[in-house]
Amino acid sequence: MEKSELVHHMRPSPNYNDRAAPISMLVLHYTEMKPVETALDRLTDPEAQVSAHYLITEEGQVYQLVPEEKRAWHAGQSYWRGTKDVNSASIGIELDHPGHANGYRKFSDAQFQALVPLAARIAKQHDIPRANVVGHSDVAPARKTDPGELFPWSRLAEYGLCLPIPTKLESGDPFHNDGAFVLALERFGYDITEPKKAIEAFQRRWRPQLIDGQVDQQIGAILWQLLLQRDRGDAR
Ligand SMILES: [Zn+2]
Repeated sequence: MEKSELVHHMRPSPNYNDRAAPISMLVLHYTEMKPVETALDRLTDPEAQVSAHYLITEEGQVYQLVPEEKRAWHAGQSYWRGTKDVNSASIGIELDHPGHANGYRKFSDAQFQALVPLAARIAKQHDIPRANVVGHSDVAPARKTDPGELFPWSRLAEYGLCLPIPTKLESGDPFHNDGAFVLALERFGYDITEPKKAIEAFQRRWRPQLIDGQVDQQIGAILWQLLLQRDRGDAR
């Protein structure tokens, strides 16, 4: 690990081990802890058994805690597109933020401006598909809500770093019932063990204006479009 234009500080964490899979995902989190020193202390505390590869402060300072080639402990019990050991397959970035528990608010611009070049470098170096740049809530829908509905996924998509929210939606209801929608959610990548939580996670990411865990025509049309794009090969 060394400092660079994109990495301003080194704060090595002992909380990592060897990867059991190649890197194919990027997982974004919020720390839900203020001040940032509290989060840095926890992510480097051997007792806590948690870590991430990077942490970005609200002022846009980037800390590296774990070398990318090692398996950091950020995702916990998780699942995405058939992968159960998400920690082995991913790089984890923590965003310094109070989270839903301590006054949920917009992510700072300085933080986003630091995230973009770091995520771009990571995605390019490891050839990570846009569809595998996800939130913690996407890979652990029953347990997690971070980074949450205020994270600017659409802005990140403008840089080609994640999938954009589909806009051209077909009218009508593509799924006959809630069960068909949930099975399609699984096909897209989500763990559907707790269907209502999986629906909420999908809404948080793809239709953040209304998160109620209910299947409706709009989220049906969005998921349909996402799967169509993937089948056409447009959504890598
Ligand atoms: Zn998280």
